[in-house]
Amino acid sequence: MADVEGMHPGSLPSPSTDRTTGGVTPPGNEAGWGMADPFELVDLDVRTSSGITATFADGYVASFDLVELRLGCPCATCRALGERGEVPWPRPSSPLPLSITDASLHGAWGVNIVWNDGHSTGIYTFEYLRRWSEDQPV
Ligand SMILES: [Zn+2]
Repeated sequence: MADVEGMHPGSLPSPSTDRTTGGVTPPGNEAGWGMADPFELVDLDVRTSSGITATFADGYVASFDLVELRLGCPCATCRALGERGEVPWPRPSSPLPLSITDASLHGAWGVNIVWNDGHSTGIYTFEYLRRWSEDQPV
């Protein structure tokens, strides 16, 4: 079984500011002194056969399993399916089990996930992931 434990580190940029050393005010942080941008991501762990875990600048950790992520795909196609009462996954042609083929950062504000069913138009913004996670009953 060719599981990939997380993405190779080269696929993600290093955090722009090393917050553990102190003494540096992060650029672009207009929220106020000492206030971490709650939608800034410091770590993203992608496990192609289980899900993703996102760690935010203020320490908040959001985890999502694959099916949850796939069903919550924010792209227009999947949202339209949901509005018609259909599910974006699994479709009749969907390979099982679901897995992530590729994941890459989309700018500094989101992650684009490519699924093994060929779907790749969903861009999960970090804000979306966080709000989604926080809205979920634990
Ligand atoms: Zn989609």
